[in-house]
Amino acid sequence: MVVIGNGIAGSTAALTLRAEGYRGSIVLIGQEPDAPYRRPPLSKGFLRGEMAAQSLRLYTSDTWTRLDIKLLTSTTVAAIDTRRRTVDLGTRAPLPYDRLLLATGAYPRPWPSAHRLAGVHTLRTLGQARALSRQLTPGARLLVIGAGMIGLEVAACARVRDCQVTVIEAAPHPLAHLLPAEVSAPLTALHRARGVGLHTFVHLQDLSAGDNGVLTATDRSGRSWEADVVVVATGTRANAELAGEAGLAVDDGIVVDRYCATSEPGIFAAGDVTSQPDALLGGHRRIEQWANAQEHGVVAALNMLGKPMAHVPLPWCWTDQFGTKVQICGWPLAADRTRLSGDVDARDFTATFHREGLLIGAVCFNRPAQFRDLRHQITLTLPAVDGDGPG
Ligand SMILES: Cc1cc2nc3c(=O)[nH]c(=O)nc-3n(C[C@H](O)[C@H](O)[C@H](O)COP(=O)(O)OP(=O)(O)OC[C@H]3O[C@@H](n4cnc5c(N)ncnc54)[C@H](O)[C@@H]3O)c2cc1C
Repeated sequence: MVVIGNGIAGSTAALTLRAEGYRGSIVLIGQEPDAPYRRPPLSKGFLRGEMAAQSLRLYTSDTWTRLDIKLLTSTTVAAIDTRRRTVDLGTRAPLPYDRLLLATGAYPRPWPSAHRLAGVHTLRTLGQARALSRQLTPGARLLVIGAGMIGLEVAACARVRDCQVTVIEAAPHPLAHLLPAEVSAPLTALHRARGVGLHTFVHLQDLSAGDNGVLTATDRSGRSWEADVVVVATGTRANAELAGEAGLAVDDGIVVDRYCATSEPGIFAAGDVTSQPDALLGGHRRIEQWANAQEHGVVAALNMLGKPMAHVPLPWCWTDQFGTKVQICGWPLAADRTRLSGDVDARDFTATFHREGLLIGAVCFNRPAQFRDLRHQITLTLPAVDGDGPG
């Protein structure tokens, strides 16, 4: 069993293979230097300076030897040979596999012209979080491009660290890919109240560095912003090149069925890298969320062992900004009716989303217990899986 990618999807799959009684060889390969760690705190507690890198670790350091799982870090898989059933690790001899799992995740979309500008960051890895953190000194001018989840979290952390923060966003409101304006509005208000300059409808055209190291962002209308540090947070691309070059079907992500099977027999995929069946709306989509990647890793391992199990994901995630916890699940943007209850201004409220009378999504501000109940209710409305088994 070979697993490429030692994030939450890959490492969960490797552990599940053992937990399910598989006794043969398991190799878990990751290109980062670190053993598996939790990514979500990188743009929360870690960036605020409240958590040490050590506390992000997912498992104790003896886990891998104890379970006889060979963990290779700082190792990049360069190619997959589907005919010979081997993976190419560059310097080492090709590694054979009977079953292969691709759990290679995603990487942040770079701003094309800013690729090598000093002071311009993206945020995905612990290494990138460390580099960004070093630059968030009091008074530093930070420009965040993109008011999605990671952009807003970075902005909030930087304000807590007394940086001067500006966020620019092309969409009409923050988190527009996830939530309607009326539900993201309290978060927008919170950022502004805490001193973040938040500008929407900004279509960035150029990002450049002057001789003095100052970065300048200019939009289509000629407006410009100067900064010492820039974070590009405009979404991700699936790390699917390896799969595409090996001839697997890729459409935005690696295309999988509900059983994590790719178009190539013996090769499975899980987590952020996949384009998976959407349980409510049909078609395929990527779900870039921690819980999904973790559950997907379990399901992939079971199917690799020939124990058919379908993954019917309910998308859900959380964020934590200026002490406000927001939890989101389901398909808020697919709703035909939204109900708000509670105190929106005090950020103590619930939004539920309905479609043809069915509850299909929920957002809770600072109401974790209610969120748990609603998430459970929505799980019950998901369509049952047909009993046809893996294809
Ligand atoms: C800053 C940040 C904050 C987040 N906050 C939240 C949150 O609050 N809530 C939430 O639900 N989700 C959050 N997410 C998303 C969540 O972390 C991801 O959905 C999850 O980590 C995906 O796990 P994965 O295992 O699929 O991929 P990844 O964690 O990306 O792991 C894939 C691994 O594969 C490695 N790899 C890729 N190609 C190769 C190769 N060729 N050879 C070897 N190794 C390779 C990569 O280096 C990487 O280490 C956040 C993400 C980030 C970046």
